[in-house]
Amino acid sequence: MKNSWNLPVLVPDTQVGGHEGVGTIVQMGDGSDMYGFGMGDRVGVKWLRETCGTCAYCLAGDDGLCAKQSASGLFQPGTFQQYVTAPARYLTPIPAKLSSEVAAPMLCAGMTSYAALRKSNAKPGNWMVVLGAGGGVGHLVTQLAAKAFGQRVIGIDQASKEKLVKESGAEVFLDVATQSGDVLAEVTRHSEGLGAHTVIVCAASNAAYSQGVGFLRPGGTLIGVGMPGGDPTPIATAMPSLIVQKQLKIVGSILGNRQDAIDVLELAARGVVTVHYEIRGLGSLTQTFEDLESGALTGRAVLDLCG
Ligand SMILES: [Zn+2]
Repeated sequence: MKNSWNLPVLVPDTQVGGHEGVGTIVQMGDGSDMYGFGMGDRVGVKWLRETCGTCAYCLAGDDGLCAKQSASGLFQPGTFQQYVTAPARYLTPIPAKLSSEVAAPMLCAGMTSYAALRKSNAKPGNWMVVLGAGGGVGHLVTQLAAKAFGQRVIGIDQASKEKLVKESGAEVFLDVATQSGDVLAEVTRHSEGLGAHTVIVCAASNAAYSQGVGFLRPGGTLIGVGMPGGDPTPIATAMPSLIVQKQLKIVGSILGNRQDAIDVLELAARGVVTVHYEIRGLGSLTQTFEDLESGALTGRAVLDLCG
C-alpha cells in the first residue's frame, strides 16, 4: 500500500486493497436478510465499507464525515480478491440491466461525482469548469454535469483526453498544457465574460486548485474532489480579500451516501452516464497503478477476478 495521501492510519503491509467491487452473494450471516438481499443477488462494496449509522453526520447523509467509518481496502481487506465479506446494511443493490463492469466504477468514482454535483447547487444552463475532465472521476463528473444536471461544461485536461472529454458532453475542451493566462481567457470568453458558476477540481493536483479559483465568476463555487498527494499545500490563489469581495465558496466533497450510490447506478442503468473502461486481469494490478500515476490510463481499469 502506497498511502500517498499520508493518512494517519496503520495499514498492514499484507492488506488487500480495492474499494469498488461488484459480486454475487454466496453466503449470508445471521440477521442479514433484514436488509432486503438474498442469495445470488448482485451487490456492490464501496470505499465506505460501513459507517456507524447513528451519529449526526450519518443521520444527515454525510456518511463520509462519520468518525467511525470503515474503509474497504484500508481498515478491512478490500475487493481485490475473489471472495469478500461486507456488512449487509451498507451494501448497494446493482440494477439488473447494468453490467458489473460499468457498475463497479460507479460505486466510488460515480457516487463521488454525483455527490459533488449535488452539492454544487448549480442551475441548469450554468457554466461549469471540470479540471481533470478526462480522468476516472473527471469523465463521470463531465457526463453527469452535462447530461443529468444540465450544465454547460468546459473540460480541461491533457490533449490526449480531448476525445473522451468531448464525448462525455463537454461543450468546450481546453488543453491543460496551454499557457495558464490563455486558458483563463478562454474560460472567461465562453462563460459570458464572467467566469464559471462552478469549478470542480477532479485532478489530484495543487496547480489545478490554484488555477481553478481564477476561473470562478463572482459568487461562484469551487468544489474540491481530487486529493493531491505529497506534502499538504494551501491553495495559492485563495486570498481572503478575493474570497470576501467576490463572495466565493470553496467546498470540499468526499464520497457520497448510500442514496447517492443508488441514484448514480440508476442513471447508469438508464444510460445517462457510463464509464470508459478496459478489463484487465488481477496480474496487471501493479501496472494499472503505474498507469494511473503516469496519466496513461484513460477512464477506468476494471479487474476481472473471475476470469
Ligand atoms: Zn456515523
